[in-house]
This record gives sequence, C-alpha cells and structure tokens, in this order.
Amino acid sequence: MLKIQVGHSYFLRLDPKQWERGKPYPPLATIQVAALLRQMGHEVALFDAMLADGVEDYAGALRAAQPDVVVFYEDNFNFLTKMCLGRMREAACQMIGEARASGARVIVAGSDASDQPGAFLAAGAQVVLLGEGIAPLVELIGRLGRDPAIDERAWVSGIAGVATLVSEQTQLTRVGVLPPDPRLTVRAAWDLVDIERYREVWRRHHGYFSLNMAASRGCPFRCNWCAKPIWGNHYNQRTAQDVAAEMTYLKQSFSPDHIWLADDIFGFHVDWVTEFGDRLRAVDGSVPFTIQTRADLTSERMASALEQAGCAEVWIGAESGSQRVLDAMNKGTKVPDLITARQRLGQHGIRVGFFVQLGYLGEDLDDLLATRELIAQAAPDDIGVSVSYPLPGTKFYEKVKAQLGEKTHWQDSNDLAMMFQGAYDSDFYRHVRDLLHEQVTLQQSHAEGPTERYREARRALDARWDALVAREHAHRTEDAAATPRAAVHSNAQSQL
Ligand code: SF4
Repeated sequence: MLKIQVGHSYFLRLDPKQWERGKPYPPLATIQVAALLRQMGHEVALFDAMLADGVEDYAGALRAAQPDVVVFYEDNFNFLTKMCLGRMREAACQMIGEARASGARVIVAGSDASDQPGAFLAAGAQVVLLGEGIAPLVELIGRLGRDPAIDERAWVSGIAGVATLVSEQTQLTRVGVLPPDPRLTVRAAWDLVDIERYREVWRRHHGYFSLNMAASRGCPFRCNWCAKPIWGNHYNQRTAQDVAAEMTYLKQSFSPDHIWLADDIFGFHVDWVTEFGDRLRAVDGSVPFTIQTRADLTSERMASALEQAGCAEVWIGAESGSQRVLDAMNKGTKVPDLITARQRLGQHGIRVGFFVQLGYLGEDLDDLLATRELIAQAAPDDIGVSVSYPLPGTKFYEKVKAQLGEKTHWQDSNDLAMMFQGAYDSDFYRHVRDLLHEQVTLQQSHAEGPTERYREARRALDARWDALVAREHAHRTEDAAATPRAAVHSNAQSQL
C-alpha cells in the first residue's frame, strides 16, 4: 500500500476576482482520482488548494501526509483550469519542487500540463499525464505499488500518453486524446473535503450553499476557440440513474441548497433529462441546480424536462449577437435561437445567463453593437463577459499565434488582456464589458416595466454607447494611415 497525496493548484486566493465572488467548489476531478486510487488499495490524503491561505500551506500538508507519491491532478471540471492561469502554474511548480525535495515521486495532470509539460517537468515533476491520463496513472501507481523502490526509468518505461524528461529534453509518448475513462465514475472522495469550510464561504457571501457534480465529460461540438486538451471531442454521459443517485447522496449527506452541474453540455437528450427528473422525484432527491447548455439544444420539450427535474438556472454560450462572428467561431448556433431559448426557459421559470465573448478575430464595432442588441432583446438574467483567449490546440490559436508576445496566459481570471492584435485593445473591451453589465443590471432592475427613472438611466447608458459609435464612425472617415487606430480607440476609451 502506498501513501499518496492527491492535490491541485487552483488557489482561490490567487484569483482576486473569484475570491471576491465567493463561489468556491471542491475540486471534483481531483477527488474522483483520489477515490480511484483509494479503490486501488492505497492510503490517500487530499491537499485542497481551493480554500488554502496560499501556497505556503502546502509544506504543512506535505509534512502531515509524508507521501510516497504526489499526484497533482487539476479539476478538469473547473473551467478556470482550462485558462492555464499564470499564478496557478507558478503555485503548481513551487509545490512540485517541495514534493520532490521531500523524496516523493511526482505526477502532474491538467490542461496546462498537457499543453506545456516542459514547464512542469522542469519544476521537478517526473511524469506529466497527457489528457485525462487515467490509464497511465493506474499503470504508474500499479508499478510503484508492486515495487516502491523501482528505478525511475523502469517506472515510466513503455507507458503511453505521458511526458517525461530524457537527458533534459521533454519526451512525449502521445496516444491522441482518448475518450473519458470509465474508471473515473467511482463516487468522488467527498469525505476528504472540508465541506464545512465551503459551506461557510458560500453562506457568508450568498446566504446559501452550493456543491458541484457532473453528469458527463467532454463535448462533441467544435467551436474553434474552445480548447479540449483533456477529452477532445469525445462526449461521455453517465446514466440518468447514476447521476440522480449522486444528487440524492449529496442532498442527504451535505444538505446543499443548490448544485452546479459542471458539464460542458448538460443533458443533451430530452429523454435522458426526463428520466433524470423522474428518478429524482421518486426518491425526493432533487436539489435546485444550474447547468450549461447550448441554445440549439433547448427545445420546448427540453425546457419542460429541465423544469421538471428542478433546474433553476441555465447558462448558454451565446458569445455574440452577430451571426457573422458566430459563424467565424464555428459556433453552430443562430442568433434567433439564443432569443428563443432564453424566452422558452424563462417561461418555465428558469433563470438564464449568457456567456459573451468580445474581441474575436474580425469582430468590429457593428458586431459589438449586435451583441448589445442581443442583450437588449433577449434580456438574460445575467451575463458573463470575457475577451477571446487563444489557447493552444485550437484553430483560433493557430490563426493568431504569430501575434502572441511573451504573454501567452492570463495571470488571473480578471486579467481580460487581449493577447493578439484584435480590433481594439484590452481597456476598450473592459469598458464594453462594463457597459453590457450595466445594461443587464438596468434591465433586471426594471423587469416589471420601465419607469421614468429607468428611461433616464437608459438614456444615459445609450449616450455612452452613442459616443463610442460616433467616435468610431468619425475614425472610419479619416485617413487610417494618418490616424493610428489605437490612438482613436484610446480617445474613445477616455469617454466611456
Ligand atoms: S459547445 Fe461549449 S464546450 Fe462545446 S466546443 Fe463549443 S464552447 Fe466548447
């Protein structure tokens, strides 16, 4: 039996926007791996960075666990791990160094490690798992379990789907992106999580407590900016029975007020969602939940099935109100679908959030105004706004990689920095984001009907948009060569 410490490097403290937001979730994929390793007969401890005070907490956890092997397995259900934030990589590398110095063997897995294994190997990791990496992980742990003193070369020899250092060079034994591994469907090791700390943070910030689970892994769609280093285009859905049983378990064990279903695409098939709802009702296992889905999957039957199952909120990757931009993204949805989906879900009493993306390649002011119009027409209950973020492995990244400078990742999720030459600069998009948020707040605060105060606030907001449009139109009539675009844009920003 080995002593294994399983951990991850997403420190909420290192991401000021998320810390302030106060919506932490336990590292689901990390505790699924912990459960799998425990099922293999090993003693498993968890280092949960999420609510740790900082990376300095790791030394104490390492001393307490005294592990033979450390597995840093990032939570692939946490979308922030896909962004490969710079601060988290630094934290991971520091912990890797400490774990190696303690004499433990170190295995690393996650989106950033799959994209840039060299950085993690240089920090001291002996093996990086490429993609989900369950097959090589099971093999590595199996070999070490049989021979804890196994020579390092023999330990990794012949294992596919990993990166290692050979003569100081990163050597990859790629196998392509494999489908989600069925061994990871064991119930997550919830007992290793300090649930009460999570409950306390949620209650303090929001007055309720939310937990997370996932009904599927992966997504078969092909939006060309969406990085998929873990599951590629595979999609694997658990049975409705199994997912209903897990929600019931969470309800009975921890009494959450809400559940975040972290799937990229929840439900997918109406019959699955209908069965899920039926099974929950049969055992009184439903907890109000939030999902992510696509507008084109939100039929009337789906909206009804979601309501019946207890769905409280749906987030849709709307991205843009411009069909031209949606097509350029290969999003596969139509603008009217977004409006219809929002109305449909609203009629079933389900809140709707739109993810919006600014600054995609070729997006111009007219496209941004189309997004503004979409938000006005659809009136979502909430929006989440980001700028286009080129991640390795995507078509989008290939198109802009020649423009990427030294900065290839955001430091934290509030960075919102443009990393390629878009139509405008980062500050411009931050202002557009703020205007869109103000618009939603205004719409929501007067959902019951416009008052005179609303009309006044609306006129003021419109005037700020109009100033932006006027300046851009003025710029279009000028000689572009004589008036650098960036100068006009920074002038526009000062008026926003
Ligand atoms: S639907 Fe969502 S998860 Fe799937 S490819 Fe598009 S952005 Fe990615």
